[in-house]
Parts: sequence; C-alpha cells; structure tokens
Amino acid sequence: MIRPDAELLLDITDLHAAVEDQPILKGVNLQVRAGEVHAVMGRNGSGKSTLSKVLAGHPAYRVTGGSVRYRGDDLLELEPEQRARLGVFLGFQYPVEIPGVSNLEFLRVATNTRRVAQGQEELDTFEFEDHVRERLKVVQMDPAFLERSVNEGFSGGEKKRNEILQMALLEPVMAILDETDSGLDIDALRVVAAGVNQLAGDHNATVLITHYQRLLDEITPDFVHVMAAGRILRTGGRELAQELEQTGYDWVDQELAVQGVA
Ligand code: ADP
Ligand code: MG
Repeated sequence: MIRPDAELLLDITDLHAAVEDQPILKGVNLQVRAGEVHAVMGRNGSGKSTLSKVLAGHPAYRVTGGSVRYRGDDLLELEPEQRARLGVFLGFQYPVEIPGVSNLEFLRVATNTRRVAQGQEELDTFEFEDHVRERLKVVQMDPAFLERSVNEGFSGGEKKRNEILQMALLEPVMAILDETDSGLDIDALRVVAAGVNQLAGDHNATVLITHYQRLLDEITPDFVHVMAAGRILRTGGRELAQELEQTGYDWVDQELAVQGVA
C-alpha cells in the first residue's frame, strides 16, 4: 500500500557497482517506503541480482559510486551481518547448500540473533521448536526439512520455501527476494506468494525481483521497475508488468539505443 508519509526504508541514489573492475550497476535510483511492494523486472544480465547482492553486502561486489540509506543510516558502511540484524533480508536466487549444518540449528541461531537485535528474548530449543512449527505452516513445509542440513539435497522449490521460512522467522523490515518464483511449479508458487503476502505489512516492505508476470498475479506490486544495462529504465504501476507480458523487452533495446547506452 502506498502512503507518501510512510517511513523511507531504502533510499538508493545513483548507485554504481562493479565486479572485478567490470561495471555492472550504472546509476540505480530506487526509493522504498514502509508498506510498499516493489517488483524489479528485466532480462537476464540486466543487473537485478547484482543490485540485491550489493544491498546484502556481498564482498565480491564493489560499490564505485552513489549511496544507499537504510532507515536513514548509510547501509554501505554496515557489515552484511549488521544489515541482517537490522532487518535487511535477501532471499537468494540460488540458495546455498550447507552440508553438516542442521537447518533447525541454523534457523534457531539466526532467529535469536535477530530477536536480540530487536530487544526480544532469545528462544530456547523447546520454545524455538514450537515457534518454527508455527512458521512452517506459512510455507506449508514438512518438519522433516528441519532435521536435514541447510538446503542439502533440497529441490529447487524446497530451497525457495526454505528461504521464505527464514524470512518468516527473521521478520525482516526490508525483504529482497531474488527470483524466488523461478523453478517453482504453480502450487509452490502460490504457497510462496501466500507466505510473502502474509508477511507483508505496514511496517515492512518487499522488493520482488522477478522475470515473470505470473508471480505478480499472486502478489500485487505497488511499483514495477524495469532494469536494463545496470539501471532502472522505467518505473510504473502494476500495469507495467502486464504490458511487459504482452510486449516483451524489445522496447528496452530501442530505449537504450536512444539514450546511447546499448
Ligand atoms: P540478472 O540478475 O539481472 O540476470 P546479474 O546481476 O546476475 O543479472 O548480472 C549482471 C551482469 O553482471 C551479467 O553480465 C553478469 O555476467 C555479470 N556478473 C554478475 N556477477 C558476476 C560475477 N561474480 N563475476 C563476473 N560477472 C558477474
Ligand atoms: Mg539474477
């Protein structure tokens, strides 16, 4: 829901970033207020995942210009774990497998770290088991997945559900979901979308990075942004996603050519 007076959670100004001296982000501007759902779309290679990784603090991505403020603070000054403690969450496009680390234990430690940062009590093993079982319902996940190593041998869809389970436990303020819909069949997509919708509220915001309109049939964005060549080329309302579904991204090349970028 758009409220112009809602807290400005994320304020990205002219952000430039590079990987191994190769410029990828070339002037991203984006403002996200509490209560909003944003979709970032764009072809493969347009810089969507790079944007999400820069926001999470991935060390391989070097910020070469611009600024990112999170709730008024300089996000780029913070270590990745500080960002997470303060409520920045990234759901990975390709969640990593961590053999030997129990999913339950991982989720418990992460949840308690976030709780302490919010001034809440830590949950002991028994309390956490109850808590996590409650949250498993959000993603309709089998408790058996808690007993396994983090994401190890999980199918693509199961990994994405596990990302949303993490999100449900960490209660982020600023959630960035990178292609959480990719590789999901329609049932899993609906479950994930229902989870995201259930967790979205007036005091948090969601940035959905997605290739496809179909996720946006389930989650209605307030804003749709189209990324191309490391920038946000166009911003609109939900109708922009529908338009993209019909026209594809061919206009992007024309627009980039006009701007002398292509
Ligand atoms: P998207 O998520 O929109 O598909 P990415 O942000 O993943 O796009 O990639 C944007 C561009 O940056 C691509 O050309 C990609 O090859 C390049 N890139 C991203 N990460 C790396 C990396 N770690 N090393 C080299 N190139 C990278
Ligand atoms: Mg990507």
